[in-house]
Amino acid sequence: MSTRKELEALFRKRGYADFKWIDPAKIVVAQWVRMKCVFGCGNYGKSGCCPPEVPSVEECERFFRDYEEAVVFHFAKKVRKPEDRHEWSAGVNRKLRELEREVFLAGNRKAFLLPMDSCGLCKECTGTRRDCLNKKGARPSADAMAVDVFETVRAIGYPIEVLTDYRQTMNRYAFLLVR
Ligand code: SF4
Repeated sequence: MSTRKELEALFRKRGYADFKWIDPAKIVVAQWVRMKCVFGCGNYGKSGCCPPEVPSVEECERFFRDYEEAVVFHFAKKVRKPEDRHEWSAGVNRKLRELEREVFLAGNRKAFLLPMDSCGLCKECTGTRRDCLNKKGARPSADAMAVDVFETVRAIGYPIEVLTDYRQTMNRYAFLLVR
């Protein structure tokens, strides 16, 4: 198992400078987040990594209790046009999955990534876990795991606001559950 110092060196080697450690017990899981996925998200039922293809809210809470250390990665970004958002987040998520693998191979058997956004590995998602085209690589986002990202990241001093225009700076977050 790696020390914090070793992991931080690995993160920096891969170009991640903006991250904070978090006690997974402080990751806020809430039923309202799931309600927003079911009633209010156009992606509902269209992704193998989003509700209803994910664990229940109770199971999500239990999952976080299995961990003692996690890392939050912060990504700030402005895009020129709304269509650019998908390509940017898909690229960030792909690299984060490589990071999860490297952390796992460094001896951290429980390493598990919650990417910055919904899966996005394929151009078109099959919509179900059963038919997923990358069963090993696909991961649910924090929102899909019923995490109240707003409350969680604000409590550790990170910025996050509801945005009203795509030209505003996005503050996005990924979580790496380490051990
Ligand atoms: S890997 Fe592809 S098919 Fe599987 S959840 Fe992600 S986008 Fe959908």
